[in-house]
Amino acid sequence: MTRLQYTGFVLPNNVTDVINNAVEVVTACKIFFAYNSPWWKTLNLRNVVTDLPNRQTIDFGTGANGKAVLLAGYGDMDITKYWHELQNRGNNISCSNANFCPSDQVVSHMNKLMAEEFNISLGVIPSPIDGAIIFWDAPPFHGAWESWRAGYDWGVISDAILKPMAGEDLYIATGAYGPLDSSQWIEMALRQADNVIDRYF
Ligand SMILES: Cc1cc2nc3c(=O)[nH]c(=O)nc-3n(C[C@H](O)[C@H](O)[C@H](O)COP(=O)(O)OP(=O)(O)OC[C@H]3O[C@@H](n4cnc5c(N)ncnc54)[C@H](O)[C@@H]3O)c2cc1C
Repeated sequence: MTRLQYTGFVLPNNVTDVINNAVEVVTACKIFFAYNSPWWKTLNLRNVVTDLPNRQTIDFGTGANGKAVLLAGYGDMDITKYWHELQNRGNNISCSNANFCPSDQVVSHMNKLMAEEFNISLGVIPSPIDGAIIFWDAPPFHGAWESWRAGYDWGVISDAILKPMAGEDLYIATGAYGPLDSSQWIEMALRQADNVIDRYF
């Protein structure tokens, strides 16, 4: 990918401050396991939202070949560190994308959590045949979505950021500085892009 370079612009301090400080990134992680079959369906188990560290477990579907994927855990904020610690221990299981293989510590810990949340015995949970663990906590993304910091007026900034310098053809169309907590949803990114086009083109 060709990355945009901003060398032609000298951003005034107030714009730089807004870009760097008005919002902070929220980290997140997702942990997927694949199995030879959807073992949870035979036990009549449903999607779960929990206060355990995996936070939620969601049936991600069964393919035509019968193999099935479970989003075993999906959490944000401090829970991301929790799983990153576990990922840094033990050995990775073998998986189809070497960049995202979960560690055996992640697998065994997740199995204990699933046994607890589903109220089943550990023995009925099979070993995954594949898996992926993905963190949004480091470059290039740094985080999954954004949340506003105190002291910044989203009503003003979400408009001003669209064209932050009157005399320059610089436009920032992202959901990250959208008003309210809707900045965390794709609708806000689309709305901000629409606003740039409607107002300036
Ligand atoms: C795990 C996760 C789950 C989510 N779930 C949902 C959901 O269920 N529903 C929902 O509505 N939203 C969800 N979101 C949020 C949604 O993805 C974002 O709101 C949306 O993608 C924001 O769009 P954006 O255009 O502002 O930024 P992005 O989608 O991040 O797009 C920015 C783009 O700019 C590129 N880029 C960055 N720097 C440069 C550069 N220098 N040069 C060139 N290109 C560059 C990046 O590569 C990227 O492609 C989720 C996000 C995550 C991470």
